[in-house]
Order: sequence, then structure tokens, then C-alpha cells
Amino acid sequence: MEYEDLVVYHRGGFQPYSQARIGLLTHALLYGTGCFEGMRAFWNAEHGELYVCEPSAHFRRFTANARLLLMELPPVAELNAIVTELCRRNGFREDVYLRPVAYKSEEALGVRLDGLADDFFIVAVPRVRLNDAGDGLNACVSSWRRLSDNAIPPRAKITGGYVNAAFAKTEARLNGFDEAIVLAGDGHVSECSTANLVMVRDGVAALPPATDDNLEGITRLQVRTILADGLGLQVRERQIDRTELYAADELLLCGTGMGIAGIRSVDHRPIGSGAVGPVCRALRAVYEDVVRGRDARFASEIVPVYAGAVRPMPTINATVPATSAMEASTSAGR
Ligand code: PMP
Repeated sequence: MEYEDLVVYHRGGFQPYSQARIGLLTHALLYGTGCFEGMRAFWNAEHGELYVCEPSAHFRRFTANARLLLMELPPVAELNAIVTELCRRNGFREDVYLRPVAYKSEEALGVRLDGLADDFFIVAVPRVRLNDAGDGLNACVSSWRRLSDNAIPPRAKITGGYVNAAFAKTEARLNGFDEAIVLAGDGHVSECSTANLVMVRDGVAALPPATDDNLEGITRLQVRTILADGLGLQVRERQIDRTELYAADELLLCGTGMGIAGIRSVDHRPIGSGAVGPVCRALRAVYEDVVRGRDARFASEIVPVYAGAVRPMPTINATVPATSAMEASTSAGR
């Protein structure tokens, strides 16, 4: 099995992936009653260090979303400590994708959110690249509309809500595109299936507001800062019409899983020159330096995993109490 050598955090302790189990009637599996995060840690070979990217921002969002589903998580500092300890125990010396999930763990039938036991786990998977978008993506505007805040709030990263993204992405793939741009219920551009969208037109970068039913992305915040303070663009948050996409100089996507990706075409219409544009290329280069701890100009929380530790701990074979994670320090280098 591909993941069996991993150490994961589940039921309050560290354990091998193969021993972490949930029952068939787990509420979150039956009804999608969970929420999740996608985080990354970036390896810097020169520093011999693994940097967890923006853990506090991710865990603050995670906490707010869990509360929406009537779940309480440990304090953010404790979650930060668990994630760095998890990386350390796996001894990663490469890029890592982290998936924290809070979920209704009770084995129970009946749709509701109240009165159910809950739990959370974190799985860290090395080498995952959710999209390889080096040469740019060919996108379509999806025939599926984005979920709305009053149905399944997109800002909440609810596990069940991702069927909406899966519909859009699958339609795009089966029709020969790489990605789907999804419109909000009122027809304005919302975001891509699993990344936020930025449109560059006449030297201005425009981003759809989160009230257009997209996720309040953490990469988007980093990108805004780099675009404004690093690349000198004006940045505006405003609604975007579908046909503005076709007229854009550049369109780019940003997200933890995706990184920074340029869009070459939308609905078979070339965007700008039809290749990844200069803003996207420059942004990607700066972002790459920021997340690997090589560029401290732009405020980002980049937490070293191994700083202070003697050496990576070997993978364990038995469940270890959560308290050991709490002893780990989280030095947040800014
Ligand atoms: N939108 C959606 C729907 C997503 O799933 C993601 C990935 N989490 C994003 C945007 C980008 O968010 P972030 O930068 O916080 O990863």
C-alpha cells in the first residue's frame, strides 16, 4: 500500500497509517459532515530544513470551520505543534502535502450536526503535486455553478461540499480541458475548482471577493502581497464578469495544492499571448523563494520543522500519546 509507511495523527496520538481506522457508519462518511485543510511544507536542501507554510492561518480557518459544524479543536498553537512533530516523526526531507480533517466521528445514522462525537486527524503525504501546471492550463467555464453561502458555505471547506468542485473538474477533464472556472449563482466569476483566480488586465490585478462564494484562500493573501509590494501591480478586489476572462492579459490560479498556475486559454480562446504570462512567471519565482525560506521580504509564517531538533526521528510503529507532540516547539520565523 502506497501510504502504509506514513505516521499519521489520529485519535489524539501518532500511529502508523495502516492502524488508523474508521468504522463504516462514521457520520462524516455517510453525510459529508467534516471540514478540512490543505497545507504544505517545503523542503530547502541548502538549509537542510522543511518549512511548514502558514500553519497558523490554516489552523485558524480550520478552527472557524469546525465551529460552524459544531466541533471544537485544540488551540492553534497545539495544532501547530502537532503538525511540526508529525513532519519530524516522518523524517521528511522533501516537499509534503498535509491534510488535517475534523469530522463527525460517531458511528450513527441521522442527518444533523448536534449531539455527535467528533475527532480530527492529520495525514502528511510526501511529494504530492496536485497539479502540474508548468506550461499553463487550458480552462473552460463550467456548466456547474458554485455552491452558495446559504447552501453549503464554500468558505467552510466542508468535505461534502467538494462534490461541487468534483463535478466541475470532471466535466472539464472529460471535455479535454485541464481546469474548470466556476461561476457563482449570479453568473459572476467565483473561482477555479480548487484554487482562487486572479485576473490581470492593464496592469491591475483583480480578484473576485470572497462574497462571490469562493474560499478565503491563504495563498491568495500571500499572492496579493507579492503582486502589490513585490511586482508593483495595483490589486483590486471586485466582481469579474465571464467575458472579462476572455479579454484578460493574464489569468492565474493560486492555492496550496496548485501553487501558482497560469491559464493559457479559456473556452478555446487564448489568454494574452496564449502562454504563461510575465506576471505569473515572476509571481511564481517570488512565491517559490518565500515558501522555501529564501525571501523574508513578504510577511509569511514559515515554520522550520527541524530547527532545534537533533535529527529527524524515525517512524514509530505504535501509538504514541499526544502529549509528546506538545513538547515540540513551533518557532514561527517571519
Ligand atoms: N478554492 C478552493 C475551492 C480550494 O479548495 C482551495 C484549496 N484549499 C483554494 C481555493 C485555495 O485556498 P488556499 O490558498 O488556502 O489553499
